[in-house]
Amino acid sequence: MTLNQTYDKSNSILQMHGLSHQYTEVLSRILAIDYAKHIISNNDPLYLALEDLKVSQAIPNSKESIFKLRPHVLEEISRLFDYEIPRYLRYRYTYDVYPGMKRVGNYPPLVQIEPSSICNYRCIFCYQTDERLTTKKNGHMGFMDINLFKNLIDQLEGNVEAVTLASRGEPLMNKFLPEMIAHMDGKFLAAKINTNASLLTEVLSHAILSSDLQTLVFSADAAADPLYSKLRVGGNLDRVVGNIKRFYEIKTAHYPNSRLITRVSGVHFQEDQDMNEMVEFWSQYVDQVAFVDYNPWDNVYDAKENSLLAPCSDLWRRLFVWWDGRIGPCDVDYLTTLSNELYPDISISNVWNGDTFTNLRTKHLNNQRQDLNPCSRCVLV
Ligand code: SF4
Repeated sequence: MTLNQTYDKSNSILQMHGLSHQYTEVLSRILAIDYAKHIISNNDPLYLALEDLKVSQAIPNSKESIFKLRPHVLEEISRLFDYEIPRYLRYRYTYDVYPGMKRVGNYPPLVQIEPSSICNYRCIFCYQTDERLTTKKNGHMGFMDINLFKNLIDQLEGNVEAVTLASRGEPLMNKFLPEMIAHMDGKFLAAKINTNASLLTEVLSHAILSSDLQTLVFSADAAADPLYSKLRVGGNLDRVVGNIKRFYEIKTAHYPNSRLITRVSGVHFQEDQDMNEMVEFWSQYVDQVAFVDYNPWDNVYDAKENSLLAPCSDLWRRLFVWWDGRIGPCDVDYLTTLSNELYPDISISNVWNGDTFTNLRTKHLNNQRQDLNPCSRCVLV
């Protein structure tokens, strides 16, 4: 049977079962892949993902529908080669579903790596406004060494699919960024960089576009001044727009087959941010425009304690490695008070399954997040 015949056959079977078009397309691609036949265990995240997708489709809106392919996930899948889809679904299932199941795999679904904790902006909602972080003598400021980065990437390859370069600082400030991107090439299916785009040169644009990075996120919370400058203190909207526009033009002219998804993402911080205006303006240059909700990153250690008891999903979803190898569960804890773990003294898998993270999870599961600072002041669940 040819690949096309296999597609047709699996497509018609799925349609007979009343599965909607978006899933039909995705599932038929999966079924057409020989690799999918090698699912050997019903504990395999891919097996569970496929089962869940069937439930999601068979009983729309059912509470039993655990795993849903949301539009941005379908967009990511649409850009993958067929042989990559099973790997991607395994990752996506652990990312979306494991936190709800309170299940811990050998590695975190997502690892965030910080090429730089230094930033050239002082956005009003960001921890970069806290001098405990930015004062040099406190030791939090610096750039990741290229050898440490490569060592870390080599450990993650084959074990983790989602790696984001970004955290407390601006990643494009690290002069080794092109080498970092090149070293990641071909190793992950959900590699991402978050940047304020102020330092996005022509050379860097080519370095990014000639790699297989999957997503590039530009942080911007407004489409016009004076709001942009008021929120992104130290930023220059004209330069940022110029850089993003040039990136779009280079992508269109020189990399027509690029699989990269570009997104403008803003923090929803105050009422006068006009989402429609944002979408209309930035959609000229990027594939997606989105807002994330504000969390009191800028003053979390001094914020009022809240009464949240629900466990924080991030403890089952991701892990952060700072520029100096320090490891933490999140960037809300930007002064790294919740963990003393240090890479490469300990492996990522051993941290993820070790005492520090297990104790944090246990506290959260026992309704004791209020005993932890900054968890007691954080709104993430
Ligand atoms: S609840 Fe705690 S672990 Fe979770 S994001 Fe907030 S500070 Fe981090």
